[in-house]
Amino acid sequence: MKNKTKKYSNNFIHNIIEEDFKKNKCVLLHTRFPPEPNGYLHIGHAKSICLNFELAKLYNGFCNLRFDDTNPIKENVKYVKAIKNDIKWLGYQWNKKIYYTSEYFSKLYKFAKELIKKNLAYVDQLTKEQIREYRGTLITSGKNSPYRNRSIKENLRLFKEMKKGYFNEGEACLRAKIDMSSPYIIMRDPVLYRIIFSQHHQTKNQWCIYPMYDFAHCISDSIEGITHSFCTLEFQDNKCLYNWILKNISVTNHPKQYEFARLNLKYSILSKRKISTLIEKKIINNWDDPRIQTISGLRRKGYTPSSIRKFCEKIGITKQNNLIEFSMLEYCIRNELNEEAIRTMAVLEPIKLYLYNIDDQYQETFVVPNHPKRPELGTHEIIFTNTIYIEKQDFKETYDQNYKRLKIGEEIRLRYAYIIKAEKIEKDKNGNITQIICFCDLNTLGKKPINKKNPAVIHWISKNNSFASEFRLYDKLFNIDNPEQEKNFLSFLNPNSIVIKHGFIEKKISEKIQKKIKSFKIQQTNLFFQFERIGYFCIDLIDSKKNKLIFNRTVSLRDKWKIKKEKNN
Ligand code: ATP
Ligand code: MG
Repeated sequence: MKNKTKKYSNNFIHNIIEEDFKKNKCVLLHTRFPPEPNGYLHIGHAKSICLNFELAKLYNGFCNLRFDDTNPIKENVKYVKAIKNDIKWLGYQWNKKIYYTSEYFSKLYKFAKELIKKNLAYVDQLTKEQIREYRGTLITSGKNSPYRNRSIKENLRLFKEMKKGYFNEGEACLRAKIDMSSPYIIMRDPVLYRIIFSQHHQTKNQWCIYPMYDFAHCISDSIEGITHSFCTLEFQDNKCLYNWILKNISVTNHPKQYEFARLNLKYSILSKRKISTLIEKKIINNWDDPRIQTISGLRRKGYTPSSIRKFCEKIGITKQNNLIEFSMLEYCIRNELNEEAIRTMAVLEPIKLYLYNIDDQYQETFVVPNHPKRPELGTHEIIFTNTIYIEKQDFKETYDQNYKRLKIGEEIRLRYAYIIKAEKIEKDKNGNITQIICFCDLNTLGKKPINKKNPAVIHWISKNNSFASEFRLYDKLFNIDNPEQEKNFLSFLNPNSIVIKHGFIEKKISEKIQKKIKSFKIQQTNLFFQFERIGYFCIDLIDSKKNKLIFNRTVSLRDKWKIKKEKNN
């Protein structure tokens, strides 16, 4: 393989494909990504998207996007739209057109009739509960339905009547006739078609019988010329059925199914059903809430397509289920933002500081680098005056020997500017500090203080150069490792998963954002900042308006979990 990159080239799936090429079992790799349009895509889907699209790229093959739309009750075109958008945003382009399983409904119907004609399928009229009961368990074999031995002719007639709407939902279904004592429960006469009277987002009211996933999936793969069909480990047993169906109908292409471990991420919920519950209960705002790991949530939080692709590459493809550290995801974006984000100052919890030895009219401009290590990223101007904001946390009123920031009688350097000394504080009648009065040593710009140690540095923003902004600080949504496993996952919510602060950013930066915010929203591009000493942030492109800028914390400057560990050691 000439254009082989390291990416996606060192896992078991890759070895299978290499073998298939060597043995001439495959000449052109064709994969697919088959989402069901019943929710938004999440980071788990990204794992599958990256695998399928990257493999197609690696082998100069194709990857189809196919909407697996066989259940009209839960599906919606709004999800189709969102899924397409997210895949494109991740940087992938599907092969030719978009495919829908619903396009094949007529073909699927014919294949179902073929199975009936071969005496391999029958119309059953047991209730859902009875079907479950008759199915047996892992240790007991199932028993045949009393309807199992209907004649082919009768089955064809009943199936047609099902299609025509003569039965109510649940009154009849089509089942494969396989083996009610098979060790694989999936092979105990699985249901192939059920009746649903619900308008379908693509086929409208054309059908009232819908194929089950297992019946539709393998046939869709076959029709599209898929060579390798990748799915997660839970579908391992379904493989027998996948192969059984393709073996028993008249198709020439028989794709091979391979399973890999799904992505489970610590502190995360990835099940669409559970995410829907979080939305319904108003615990999160929507599918794009930055506290959940949907693609749109991650995008809104400031994750870039490349950071998500990098994460998927790093976790790799294996056959062992495991729980991935959340810090791995954060590592991927932090690394990227460390290189790319523009450094600027923001004050999230402001407290006023007055430099009494500087005139009210005095104004000085400092040109500061956008990135300490990348001069090509340019500079921006900050303005220094006698009234500035600093972070509340950077001042301590009571004496504390270990406190290294501003305190009465002590000096500190204002980032890029002078050394100041706090002399006194003013308070309102409630005892809240209204301002800190300081002396500014105008002799210390870019100079070390004579005969003294360099003081600590704090960030600041001039009152005249400030623009009021909102900051949303996100944390994990759950306070346990594996909420997905918990039945009552809602009892493990982190009450501080979002903390909102009202502070300031530099005015020059706000002007730059205001000019571009409309196009950022349309193009789904963002600006990424490192607010010095605070963290990496981006603009919230959903709620921000020209006059109301909101910033989302993408990730902290350092790995909090690692710091905790270091402290404990
Ligand atoms: P949910 O559990 O939320 O219902 P799903 O697996 O049913 O998700 P689909 O829309 O059917 O969602 O998924 C499309 C594809 O994405 C499937 O091929 C599936 O294997 C893959 N996929 C879904 N979740 C994960 C995951 N956590 N890790 C890896 N692949 C996943
Ligand atoms: Mg599914």
